[in-house]
Amino acid sequence: RAAAGEEAQIPRWVRINSIKTTIEDQLKTTFKGYDQVTTIQEVLAPSTTPTGVKQRRILIDPHIPNLVAITHGIDLSKTEAYLSGKIIFQDKASCFPAYLLDPLPEDGDIVDGCAAPGNKTTHLAAICHARRPDFETSDAQKIFAFEKDKRRSQTLTKMVKIAGSQGWTRVGFGQDFCQVDPTGTQFAKVGALLLDPSCSGSGIVGRDTMPELHVPEASPALASGKMDKAKGKATDGKEELSKKRKLDDIEAHQNSVMIDDEGNETVVDSEKDLEARLQALSGFQLKILLHALTFPAAKKVTYSTCSIHSQENEDVVMKVLGSDLAQRRGWRIMRRSEQIRGMRDWPVRGLSESCGGDSEVADACIRSYKGDGHGVMGFFVAGFVRDGSQDEETD
Ligand code: SAM
Repeated sequence: RAAAGEEAQIPRWVRINSIKTTIEDQLKTTFKGYDQVTTIQEVLAPSTTPTGVKQRRILIDPHIPNLVAITHGIDLSKTEAYLSGKIIFQDKASCFPAYLLDPLPEDGDIVDGCAAPGNKTTHLAAICHARRPDFETSDAQKIFAFEKDKRRSQTLTKMVKIAGSQGWTRVGFGQDFCQVDPTGTQFAKVGALLLDPSCSGSGIVGRDTMPELHVPEASPALASGKMDKAKGKATDGKEELSKKRKLDDIEAHQNSVMIDDEGNETVVDSEKDLEARLQALSGFQLKILLHALTFPAAKKVTYSTCSIHSQENEDVVMKVLGSDLAQRRGWRIMRRSEQIRGMRDWPVRGLSESCGGDSEVADACIRSYKGDGHGVMGFFVAGFVRDGSQDEETD
């Protein structure tokens, strides 16, 4: 269970959905009367004055466009802006992949291989929309969003709709990305892919909103009755109970679910060897990422997890870079100097010892840790690019 202290170090991150609104409009409406501050520490400072007045603070994030942090504990879930998809609760680190992928009009179509609940799919849509005002009507650039789990696909479909991006997003409902044929004619123009596969979730902070909730709605933990312990314990009404159930579900999930290299989840003993579990996850993550690298026109791919374990992060990156497929097709790491400004400036980088001492690869990897003062969840992302017209025909 995430300690209460951890939660206190995370503000509420809110992505302003630029398809439907602007930061300026939100400062005048949803966040009217908030004090604008310039550091995360000010957002996190105690928000109740000695006379009991609750202070409301807002920080415009310096790294990610259209992202703000606000004082923890303010309920925005009933605001018009939230209900109409103008604002989306999304941790800062969860905004890194779409921002790093930086899809340009010339990159053509985009794939999100593991899409539900849709935070990154809708973020990709917002980025494309900002770059290309005719995005919605031109049909020039599409987003293919695949999700293997049918129930989570429903959530994805809803989120895409509420965020106003259904016009150019094709949801691969219940579709296993590994089974998608990259040579299909409909994918001929796919130039950029975002891969955010299932992971151990070790970077997740227990709090009331879990944009990265990795637990399928009918999760094995729920199905096996592990949630029953939440019943009757919560005394603060329905909301508290549902909050507690989510936290218990995450905890149960992290302790008791094994994902095999096909991405299937099975319940295991809670004491199961962590290393075996991480190796299984790592095998699945490598497989799905390598699949993404086979799309004929692909030039950019991002790989991300909300895990802090190197087995799921740098180890996967190193295996990809050392793979025959990457070498044959000319894939290499997206160097820090090539990254979009906010990601280049982000100070927390990969672990050199897990990159075989290759400091360029480590520096290219982007990390975050909950509780390190940056106010974000634990996360990892790396980008891959290929420059030339390496052999695309021989696979
Ligand atoms: N990117 C999402 C977001 O930002 O909202 C979070 C994705 S979550 C970390 C991983 C998702 O991948 C889960 O919904 C899981 O069901 C899905 N998934 C796992 N294996 C898959 C596969 N082979 N094909 C498609 N989706 C898969």
